[in-house]
Amino acid sequence: MADDCLFCKIAAGDVSADTVRESEEWIAFRDINPQAPTHILVIPRQHIATLNEAGPGEAEMLGRLLLAAKEIAAEEGIAEEGYRTVLNCNPGAGQSVFHIHLHVLGGRAMGWPPG
Ligand code: AMP
Repeated sequence: MADDCLFCKIAAGDVSADTVRESEEWIAFRDINPQAPTHILVIPRQHIATLNEAGPGEAEMLGRLLLAAKEIAAEEGIAEEGYRTVLNCNPGAGQSVFHIHLHVLGGRAMGWPPG
């Protein structure tokens, strides 16, 4: 756990969140400022600030985050219609919380390219 990391505090249960699903390795909760009718964040319990800090030892965990996103999309009823997963890395890409997190967005049409 990293000091002063909001998402570490959510993973530890010290800050409340609208949790939809969790495992020993990750926790998924609704984004506080949703950008789509369904907007869920999947975060590892392990503190990794950005994708740039992830190494080969995190490969399986990162893969399981994607599989969690797939399962959550199915539970939310957006799997067939379509959904988007996004992992912003560093401020130039829009990262504002420095604990990696996978956005799962759906329930509306998505434009491409993203802004
Ligand atoms: P990013 O900009 O990719 O770093 O995404 C961070 C996301 O965290 C944003 O979509 C925020 O709305 C969301 N967020 C920030 N604080 C909270 C919180 N306390 N609970 C849920 N989501 C949050």
